[in-house]
Order: sequence, then structure tokens, then C-alpha cells
Amino acid sequence: MDVHCTTCGEPWDVHHLRHDAIFETDLAHAEAKAWTELSPKLKLAPRYREKFKAAGFEFGGSILNVIRCPGCPKEAKPNQDRLQTKAALEQLLGDDEDGLAATFEDYRL
Ligand SMILES: [Zn+2]
Repeated sequence: MDVHCTTCGEPWDVHHLRHDAIFETDLAHAEAKAWTELSPKLKLAPRYREKFKAAGFEFGGSILNVIRCPGCPKEAKPNQDRLQTKAALEQLLGDDEDGLAATFEDYRL
């Protein structure tokens, strides 16, 4: 399943976001590995958001809600309609990450 970057529309594989993207940050391998076992909420603790940001990723309330990605042009701004739609779906589906992934894919978000 793919989700799309809110800013540039680049598709991102859900499995990659959940399991591999963390290894693109400068976290030590052991810590990155430990991260993959964390709950969805802890995965986006401020420390990890910072690490992801340094690697080019910004997320909404979920690791599946890619607001900016490493492929984004520097000055590009997030698409506001898409930003709001994704935030609303996130609220609706809560912690149901699989449901969120499927819904984002259905709507090409
Ligand atoms: Zn992007």
C-alpha cells in the first residue's frame, strides 16, 4: 500500500514508513531497531520527529500521514486541502493504522 506526500504527492510505501524510514535518520542502528517496536504514539515522540525532520520527513498525527518528504522541493508548501482531509481522517480512524493506510490509498492521499 502507498500513501502520498501532502506537499509533493510522492508515493511512499506504508511498509517502508513503518519499518525502514527510521534507518535513514542518524539514530544508532540499535535504537532505530527498537523504534520499530514502539507504539504508534511513541514513534512520533518529539525526539523521533526531530530525527525524521533532519532526514526530510514531517508527519501529521501518524507515521502514515507524510506532510513533507525528502523528495519535496525546498520551497514547496503542503497542499492545504489534502492536509485537512488527512487530518480529519486521522481523527476519525484514531489508532487504526491499517484502516488509515487503506483509506489514504483509496483516496490517493
Ligand atoms: Zn514530498
